[in-house]
Parts: sequence; structure tokens; C-alpha cells
Amino acid sequence: MRLFEAILDANHRAAAGDKSAGVHVVDFADALPVVALTCIDPRLNPLMPGVLGLPDEQFIWLRNAGNIITSSMSSTIRSLALACVVKGGKEIAVIGHTDCRAGQTTVLQLTERFAALGVNRSKLPDNLVEFFGVFASERQNVLKAVDFIRHSLIIGPKIPVHGLMVDIQSGRLEWLVNGYQMLDAAAAQFAEAIHAQNPTMQTAFASPESDADGKKSADARIGEPESATGWSAKDVRIVEPHTLEPPPKLRLAQETPVHAPAPKRPPVVSPVRNRPRQGYIRP
Ligand SMILES: [Zn+2]
Repeated sequence: MRLFEAILDANHRAAAGDKSAGVHVVDFADALPVVALTCIDPRLNPLMPGVLGLPDEQFIWLRNAGNIITSSMSSTIRSLALACVVKGGKEIAVIGHTDCRAGQTTVLQLTERFAALGVNRSKLPDNLVEFFGVFASERQNVLKAVDFIRHSLIIGPKIPVHGLMVDIQSGRLEWLVNGYQMLDAAAAQFAEAIHAQNPTMQTAFASPESDADGKKSADARIGEPESATGWSAKDVRIVEPHTLEPPPKLRLAQETPVHAPAPKRPPVVSPVRNRPRQGYIRP
């Protein structure tokens, strides 16, 4: 099982009420840390990275309004690239969310709200949709962002790029784009093309897992590689958060449970923050 397969499995099991659901982070050292692009919506603050079952230190978090990417060389993609090159990010995930206001604001509303802030229409670009990248479909917006990243020349071709949606109410994840499948398909196409040119040529196509030498040399240049040690699902328990706001959520605590669980709440995998880590980090 690969990292995001484990993440989705744990998320869905937790959503179904499995109190033992979690991600054994130590099993995925080669796939961490994850680089994630999400919206700026503050409702995501308590969800990330808990719904992924990842500890904070394995989660490199980039945000912009609407998790929008407007081109394959945009400033957001440059940050994603540096997150991989400088901070050692191994996999990228664009995580859209339900009820995204960036996708619900019309051009007319944008114009009126800018005017209310003293920015007249004449000061704005002609094509506001193109300029701000506003979208009609949250899902399509994720697919578009993944496509820009996957085809960007500055994103390593062996880095899986996933597309997900998170339910802002329940924290349940949906996997829209499986980055592993995209890599596998690209490798197969490449192999076919090479074989067509020279059928006798022995080709060995390196998956991210098999190219051990390449990975090692890349890691050696990473400025601040993150430690893979962290909590394990075995060490955590699902508890209610300290303060419940509608809709309340179940969380994966990393240490002592806080309260008895309230009934009929949509569960979310989320480590409790601001807890001393010493008690659950494996030796
Ligand atoms: Zn949003």
C-alpha cells in the first residue's frame, strides 16, 4: 500500500467509525513529507493535516484563495517546486474543499466588492475570471490544478501529484486524481515509445520506488530533510475535540483522550494539536 492509499483508507475507516484508523507514518518514510495546496478558507485550519492522518512536521502546507493554479509556471507552482527541492517534499496533493467561496463568487460580485474596497472596475484586468482563476466547479478546479502541476517542467516527473476533495463539514476525503496511476501510465507510454523505436532495446523504467540511486542522490541535496519518525496509529485514540462547534468532529488524538465521544457526530481523523510529542514518538 502506498502513502495516499493508506491515507484514504484510514480516512474512510475513521469516517465509518473505526476508532483504530490511522496512518503508520513510519512505514512511509520515503513518501514524506507531503506538499499540499489548499484554499485559504479558515474552516480548513482544524482539519489539516489531521484528516490525512499525518503529523504537522510531515505536512508542507501551501495555500491560496481557491487552491487555484493559473499556469504551469505560476508563483504557486514555483513554491511547490521549491517545497520539493528545498524542503524535501516527496508527493504533492491539491486538496479542494466543498462549499468553496472562491468558486461561488461571480464576476459581478467581485466587481462590486472591489468597488466597495475602493478598487474601481477600471483598475482591474478586463478578464477577471482568467486573472483570478475563479471557477464554477470545485472538482474541475482541482483537476485543472493537478494538470498544470503534472505538466510543469519544474516539477520532478517522478513526484506523484494527487487531486483530492475534502468535505468541509465531515472531513471525509475523496480521491479525484490518483498520482500513482498517472506515473504508472506515463512510464508505460514511455516504454512503448522506446520499444517502438528500437524493439531490441532493453528498457527498464524506473518507478519512484525502484530508482533507488536516483532518489538517494536527490535526497542528498535536500536542504532540510524531514525525519520520518512520528506517531503511529497504534498510539492514538479517537476522541472528541476540546470544544465542539457545529458540526462537531471526531479526532485522532496523539495522546490522552480528552472527553468521552459524543454520539452521532461525523468523524474526522485529526491529531490534537499542542500536545507534547514525547509520549507518542516511537524510539
Ligand atoms: Zn475555498
